Amino acid sequence: MRQVAIDAWVEAAHSVNSGASYRSGRQARSVLDDARETVASLLGCEPIEVIFTASGTEADNIAVQGLYRAARVAGRPARIITTPIEHPAVLEPAQNLGAEVEFLPLGRDGHVGDLSALDTPAALATCMWANNETGAIQPVEELCRRASAQDTAVHIDAVQVVGKVPVDFAAVGATTLAASAHKFGGPRGAGLLLARRSPAPQPLAFGGGQERGIRPGTVDVASAAALAAALRESVAEMNAEAARIGALRDTLRAGLLGAIDNVVVNTAEPALPSHLHLSFPGTDSDSLLMLLDGEGIEASAGSACHAGVTRMSHVLEAMGVSADEGRGSLRFTLGRGTTQADVDAVCATLPGLIERARGV
Ligand code: PLP
Repeated sequence: MRQVAIDAWVEAAHSVNSGASYRSGRQARSVLDDARETVASLLGCEPIEVIFTASGTEADNIAVQGLYRAARVAGRPARIITTPIEHPAVLEPAQNLGAEVEFLPLGRDGHVGDLSALDTPAALATCMWANNETGAIQPVEELCRRASAQDTAVHIDAVQVVGKVPVDFAAVGATTLAASAHKFGGPRGAGLLLARRSPAPQPLAFGGGQERGIRPGTVDVASAAALAAALRESVAEMNAEAARIGALRDTLRAGLLGAIDNVVVNTAEPALPSHLHLSFPGTDSDSLLMLLDGEGIEASAGSACHAGVTRMSHVLEAMGVSADEGRGSLRFTLGRGTTQADVDAVCATLPGLIERARGV
């Protein structure tokens, strides 16, 4: 967590229920209003469009299930258009609504290209802004434009981009957009759903009507304040950090490609500057991860949320990566704390581990 987020959280930790009408309740409400206004001004939306949630997963679920239900009530077809590389927080609800789910075709570079499925009306189109495994940035503006021409609601999972890439909710043209505080230095267990006034998602839970009734329950004011503080700082640093991290990532890629034979690069531009996903045929991710961990280097194989599961990630599968390549894949994610010394350590360590793993 960023220090500004910890400070904001501690300062707001005494906040009482922001729905209470007595003085301390009004004070809590004012902290929450400030957080909402900060988020709105940083992400190009109106304060009323900001819904605080308990995670990116919850925001995705409210959007996918709630927009689908709202669309069905309005008589839209039982059809969802999405991509095969969504996070399970989108993929699983989409596949459990009884809808016909149509996947946009994906290239070997991890990008969706052919958007023609959007030219036929659907209840919902949902697409991630950037993929969490490869970092591939998807054409979300074009996707929103094509879907909107058919009055199809669009949800964008922007969990990987908020705080890292400029986001203007109004300009993108999505119906809803999800983010997660821990991705930009805020607390874990705090997320955001930006939701236009109309069409609004139907609620999944019913209660006291907080957050426009879309996400009822007493609001965690301290987490909202911490989220806003983290977002403010990450947006202020965004350009400089993208340049710094991108340069480190390029050095890492060049160092590894120069020292190791037969490397497949799975991260293709346009991509987040933070991600580098590589395959080393003839190796096995699990043993590489264990050896790297022993050297104090923390990487992941598929999606970090799936660490421990050995089958090839659904993202690599959808990209058409072969089983042999997919088995020996590593995802390096660089961030705020990553330094040149970290990159040097990986470049000095990994080539020897790959040689050992390949038995050469
Ligand atoms: N969507 C994407 C693209 C993610 O990368 C993640 C988490 O890594 C999520 C959704 C879920 O967010 P949370 O961890 O806040 O539940």
